[in-house]
Amino acid sequence: GGASERQVIGSRIAVRDAEKRYGQFHAVNRINLDIEPGEFITLLGPSGSGKTTLLNLLAGFQSLDGGEILVDGRPVHNVPTHKRGFGMVFQSYALFPNMTVTQNVAFPLRMAGVDRATTERRVAETLEIMRLSDHANKSPSEMSGGQQQRVAIARAIVMRPKVVLMDEPLSALDRRLRESIQIEIRDLHQTIGSTILFVTHDQGEALTMSDRIAVLDAGKIVQIGRPLEIYRHPSNRFVASFVGESNLIEAEIMQKRGTTVTLKNRAGYVFDAESRDAIDVGRVTVLVRPERIAIANEPTASSTPVTVTSAIFLGEILRIEAQMDGGDTLLIRCTDTARRPLPDVGDRLHVSWGPEDCWVLT
Ligand code: ATP
Repeated sequence: GGASERQVIGSRIAVRDAEKRYGQFHAVNRINLDIEPGEFITLLGPSGSGKTTLLNLLAGFQSLDGGEILVDGRPVHNVPTHKRGFGMVFQSYALFPNMTVTQNVAFPLRMAGVDRATTERRVAETLEIMRLSDHANKSPSEMSGGQQQRVAIARAIVMRPKVVLMDEPLSALDRRLRESIQIEIRDLHQTIGSTILFVTHDQGEALTMSDRIAVLDAGKIVQIGRPLEIYRHPSNRFVASFVGESNLIEAEIMQKRGTTVTLKNRAGYVFDAESRDAIDVGRVTVLVRPERIAIANEPTASSTPVTVTSAIFLGEILRIEAQMDGGDTLLIRCTDTARRPLPDVGDRLHVSWGPEDCWVLT
């Protein structure tokens, strides 16, 4: 593409105490959110957590019951949807079936009265970005779901909007296609520089795509941060369980030095862990990610014994479930499939983890 695509600088968005109620029910419950110009933000949460409602408030499909939304410092509540100038992509592609790909993508430019030469250039550039140039003259019915969704995305960005809203755009596609379009959307974001607000209930998708993730639960943002921060240092049990696979281990604090604590679990295993704040409470829950657990055949100075209850070869990993003495079950994802044979149910293994591998939840 030409240099013209890179000139868009996305808008700054500020959500202030936003509220949306249905009767007594708070679908969006006093949400605050600051989005930087050009940022890729994902709203991640389970069904019913308020993601779509928040996106609809931004789009202007629904009106606020309280609070305000500012785009580049200006309140938008009196601005109708079509005047907000946002690009939008939904789960259903909503293409015009009787128009070709080119006509679909050109549609917003025609509505805006853009001249013919500019329209042709813009459409060609945009089809190239979305790798659709070879399909320019096809009709939607001649294309796969993934191609149709790329056309819908092309149409959403052809005006080079400062803000693009995407509501579960990939959830109707199969996994492989979803993963390749995830990368395409990331690249597209680099190219056009728009602020993108992306809604998904798929934690892997959120981790892959986002500059920052806002995790929603019951109408509230429970954590906002970079993907690695959310994954490694979740703020509570909900985030720890919802993002990635997790072992949540009950343990008692034996000793503390600042934000590092020494803990003992029910099996008597003593280990160090890190926490965000210095904590005083006696009993805590510790997150240990399944891929951070080391396995040995013989006891080591820092290990604890477990009994294998299930072991499956998944291709890139071994997925092992094991029981610690004292009752806690552990999920282990072992990537060293070359050197470690698949254990049998009933085998004794010796597991360990370091302080950087676990996180005290508060
Ligand atoms: P999903 O992924 O299922 O769409 P979501 O996180 O996007 O979930 P929302 O669609 O924002 O959630 O809905 C939030 C809550 O508000 C849900 O419990 C939903 O049932 C409720 N809700 C949404 N629209 C209405 C409405 N028009 N009337 C009553 N309740 C509604």
